[in-house]
Amino acid sequence: MTIYTDSDIVIKNRKIMMEFILAEHGKCHREKCELKQLGEQLGVHATRFATPPNLEKQNVSSEYLEINAHSCIYCDRCIRICQTKKVMSRAGKGSLISIVFDDNRSVDASSCIHCRDCVEICPTGAIHYKLSSNFLE
Ligand code: SF4
Repeated sequence: MTIYTDSDIVIKNRKIMMEFILAEHGKCHREKCELKQLGEQLGVHATRFATPPNLEKQNVSSEYLEINAHSCIYCDRCIRICQTKKVMSRAGKGSLISIVFDDNRSVDASSCIHCRDCVEICPTGAIHYKLSSNFLE
């Protein structure tokens, strides 16, 4: 079997997928958005598609941390990096999808140890810490 990863059709489809993801991502005001940088590398500077009105998407918020549901592209990096494992996971499907803590507990009531690895690894800045960086020092 021969697998082509850089044929014209593959590159064209990759660009279209990037446009869909950027549309889902919505407006990003982050200076260093990894997703946007990847788009630039592919030559995708903007999306032709409208941001879907996913009114069901709810931000996850706690005293310490917030996940902006409209910036999240559900790449699962935060779930994979989570030091305590199994704290973060996905719940729901389609427009009801969300990142949850301990099977849908609030962040404050979960076993999250606030290591902030998820904040560091998030490519879109969807997760951010509300407290100053010396909170854990
Ligand atoms: S790392 Fe960021 S963009 Fe990826 S699933 Fe987690 S919150 Fe969403």
